[in-house]
Formats: sequence, structure tokens, C-alpha cells
Amino acid sequence: MRSLIISDIHANGEALDAVIEDARGRYDQAVCLGDLVGYGASPGKVIDWVKANTHAVVRGNHDKAVAGLDPMEDFNLLARLAVRWTQEQLTPGQMEYLRTLPEGPLMHDDVELAHGSPEDEDEYLLNAIDVEYVTPAMQRRVCFIGHTHMQGGFTFEKGRPERLVKPKASAPEAVLHLRPDVYYLLNPGSVGQPRDADPRAAYAIYDSGERTVTYRRVSYAIGEAQRNIVKAGLPELLASRLALGR
Ligand code: ZN
Repeated sequence: MRSLIISDIHANGEALDAVIEDARGRYDQAVCLGDLVGYGASPGKVIDWVKANTHAVVRGNHDKAVAGLDPMEDFNLLARLAVRWTQEQLTPGQMEYLRTLPEGPLMHDDVELAHGSPEDEDEYLLNAIDVEYVTPAMQRRVCFIGHTHMQGGFTFEKGRPERLVKPKASAPEAVLHLRPDVYYLLNPGSVGQPRDADPRAAYAIYDSGERTVTYRRVSYAIGEAQRNIVKAGLPELLASRLALGR
């Protein structure tokens, strides 16, 4: 079974279109690790696509905030403005979909799906050292995570955490061969707002038969996404950061 793993789309319809096109024929089912909305100008389009095309979804902190389930204490001003704008765009059905998304981790086939970490949906796993503390909470050897918008993730083998590499700026993909007896916390990266200095949309394909994870990056119409953000009256910085991948 080949699974398309997507996360942190953040209402970027242009980036999602490019990922769907690039991934065509490469997967049998799709799963989403949360943050469908927030920051971008196409929240309704993204929700409708995820609802119709994914087999499993966990909620992200932005999904919770838009649904009124998060007090937004950790949200900066830009994120709060985007949440309020998004709430005004969605239909009652789309709001209900966000409100009822499950909290991770979710056991799906032979892997776990989480937004932040397997022990806390809002936790940012930024450093290899953090990984040591969350692996005891894992119920599977492989957990896919999002939230940091940094493609790659971590391994934990014989008490030693290590950071995994993402594709080089000149390459479309990097392949990871999964080994037994190793814990993996794998981040497909962010579809709609990468923050790892590579502005290309990020995603991953997990092949459970081959035991591989392929990290991919794909260029998309960043200018169009930026124009739509500005046209929507969202903060200009949400548009400009897309070109930087930060
Ligand atoms: Zn996010």
C-alpha cells in the first residue's frame, strides 16, 4: 500500500493542486496530518478536497482555532487574523468538519498519525533531543508528524536520536529505507507554508510493502497564491513569506 502523506496545507490551494498533480499515480490512499486551514486564501477548497479524498485525518492547532476549540494563547497576531478571516469564509458544513476532526495520534494501518507529536498534538518536535522523550509514547515504530513545517524528521535507534535529511534544493526527492527495530518520527513537510528554507511544496509517500518513505518537493504557482492572499485582505507578510520558505 502506498500512502500519500500530506500536512500543513494551510489553505494554500495552489500548492495543494501542484502536490496532487505531482503525486498522481504514485499512491493508493491519502492521509492528512492537520492544519488544513489558516494563513492561505483557499480554506473551503482545501477542506472539500481533504474531506473527499483522504482515508484518515487528524486535526491541527489551526483547525481547532478556526473551529473555536483552541483559546489561541500560542497564536501570534498574524495567525489570529487569519483564523478570524477563515471563520468568515467557511460554510456551516465546513466548520462542522473541522470541529469534528479527531485528535491525534491516530493508529492507521501499521503507522501512527499525529499533528505535533505522539504524546501531545500541540508539541513541536524541533530537535533530535526532544525525540528521546516521546518515543516511549509510540504504539507503532513509525509515526508521521507535521506542525513544524520542516520536512524530514528523526530516527531513534539504540538510545540515539538523529535528524533525517530532506531533498536538496536541486532535487525533487529523497528516499528513506525503513529498518526494523528503529523508531521513526517522520515529517512530510508542509504543503502550503514550508519553513525549512525551501519554498517548494512538500509531501511524502509511504510504501508499506517496500518499506520506504519518499520525500518530495514540487514547485507551484507561488505568485498566484500570494496575489490571492493579498486580494483576500489577509496580512501581506503571509504572502511574502511563501517565496522565502520561512
Ligand atoms: Zn501548521
